[in-house]
Amino acid sequence: MKKKQFKAESKKLLDMMINSIYTNREIFLRELISNASDAIDKLYYRALTDKKLKIKRDSLEIRVIPDKENRTLTITDNGIGMTEEELETNLGTIAKSGSELFKEGNDKAKDISIIGQFGVGFYSAFMVSDKVTVKSKSIDSDKAYLWESTGADGYTIKECEKEGNGTEVILHLKENTETTSYDTFLEEYTIQNLIKKYSDYIRYPIKMKVITKTKKEDSEEEVSTEEDKTLNSMIPIWKKPKKDVTEEEYNDFYTDKFYDYEKPLRIIRSEVEGRCSYQTLLFIPSHAPFDYYSKDYEKGLKLYSKGVLIMDKCKELLPDYFSFVKGLVDSEDISLNISRETLQENYQIESIAKSLETKIKKELEAMLKDDRKAYEKFYKDFGIQLKYGIYTSYGMKKDVLQDLLLFYSSNDEKYTTLKEYVARMKEGQDTIYYACGDSLDRIDLLPQVESVKDKGYEILYLTDYVDEFTLKMMMDYDGKKFMNVSDDKLDLNSEEEKEALKKANEEAKDLFAEMQKDLQDEISGITFTNRLKNHPVCLTSKGALSVEMEKVLNTMPTGEKVKAETIMEINEHHPIANKLKELYNNKELEELQEYTKILYAQARLIEGLPVENPTEISNLICNILSK
Ligand code: ADP
Repeated sequence: MKKKQFKAESKKLLDMMINSIYTNREIFLRELISNASDAIDKLYYRALTDKKLKIKRDSLEIRVIPDKENRTLTITDNGIGMTEEELETNLGTIAKSGSELFKEGNDKAKDISIIGQFGVGFYSAFMVSDKVTVKSKSIDSDKAYLWESTGADGYTIKECEKEGNGTEVILHLKENTETTSYDTFLEEYTIQNLIKKYSDYIRYPIKMKVITKTKKEDSEEEVSTEEDKTLNSMIPIWKKPKKDVTEEEYNDFYTDKFYDYEKPLRIIRSEVEGRCSYQTLLFIPSHAPFDYYSKDYEKGLKLYSKGVLIMDKCKELLPDYFSFVKGLVDSEDISLNISRETLQENYQIESIAKSLETKIKKELEAMLKDDRKAYEKFYKDFGIQLKYGIYTSYGMKKDVLQDLLLFYSSNDEKYTTLKEYVARMKEGQDTIYYACGDSLDRIDLLPQVESVKDKGYEILYLTDYVDEFTLKMMMDYDGKKFMNVSDDKLDLNSEEEKEALKKANEEAKDLFAEMQKDLQDEISGITFTNRLKNHPVCLTSKGALSVEMEKVLNTMPTGEKVKAETIMEINEHHPIANKLKELYNNKELEELQEYTKILYAQARLIEGLPVENPTEISNLICNILSK
């Protein structure tokens, strides 16, 4: 019989499994039992809709059979089984979860210690076996097939005999080495422990024949009897009394079920009794999965009805801004036959979703309060999602989300909440100031920032492109409005300063008109300002659209280009102001134009905007330098 080759990605993973120095080999049992349980689920689920299919609920079981003589460990199930084609595609090609991991460029795959914690599934059998035999008979076929492989050199499939539907996975254990004893996986004691540890919540009995020795009545003679023992409690982790579940068990459950290699930051477990009763177990991951910000990412919670999984990702249970939450909901009030179509109008789902939103919010608030470090880690990965929540709801979700936001602040140079900012506000301050830019350093260098800071006001540094849009949608926080330090309405001067400036501007009216001649389309005005301390020039924006928003909107692939209405402000106390006046008074108008162009180019550069005519500007500067 011709040997077939594994698909390339499968082969890579297989090699790693076989040659793995990974110490956590024991997880193979969890993986195989989990597959067996899924296969029974599938059969059970099929029987719900296919009335011709008759199955007895209490006949469904998984078996573990250690055979010390032959050094094999067999795991059987009486689930849905696999056809010849399914054996070929399912075991010849690696399953999705694993293959994603092995796509080129995914650094995580390089870290061997992570592997066992992913859903590597069936292939983990090769961590303990040098040959794996699978006999399977599908519920849809009269014939059974045998799949066999010794690992990297490929696999064979042939017909075989097997009674009843289901699958038998026979592991031919590796020879013991100096450092690893594979025999241990044949010991009753080890098997029992592993099943307690990893598979206790599996909903079907995991049985094993065990020998019990009992003393005969009235004599010292012992008799051995072989009997079936069920090794798992079958109570799902979310239904066990809270006091009986350790944090480690929750973490293991999470990493196993949700394909993460890091334990979650927070675990939310609760139980609700009422018109719609349910249990829920939610996790807040410690980092974004690699596809989180891609369109492939699907949000949702697992939905169970009386312990039976009826939907893997019920997206109706989570709002988009909490799409990072993983977990499950189990409700006996939800019909097993609920369909995708009826989900949306389902009031039970709706009311569960509402209360989950509140729970998640509370948990995040608690984390913010009692574990700031963890919250900041969380926020780095998922904060943008919260801000989007406000932005895309046009501010309607402000009440839910505003106190979960963090912004970098000029105060102590660390993250702050809006509440903390407001608590620190100066007497008489009624505005929350912010500044935008590509990076913290760049913002810090903005001329307007310097002067506002100088006056003793705290400034939020916004570096995410969605930040300013978010604040605009919020309108205000706790009655305090937001203001960009580059907004032309910003005025922190005293009455006398204002008067003096007004006078200076009036006197320079003609000068500015002359200067603006060549910049009619670019800027809507030129003025003197005393908001700049050392810098000669800056741009401020007039109206709703700021310079930062102009930048963001113009990077969008569609739509017309927009332009913020800007004003060029010149530092009245900078020597350049006198120079400009001098040029104007001496009627050196050509030079005045050149100076103006250079100043405007500088102002744009400081704002992080492109200069449209760099060659011209560069030549102008050289001209002046050469004089
Ligand atoms: P995963 O379980 O993550 O999909 P696996 O590599 O463990 O990946 O399994 C690949 C596929 O093989 C499964 O999705 C399933 O369709 C099939 N399979 C594995 N074990 C069994 C089994 N005991 N009974 C039926 N099908 C199985």
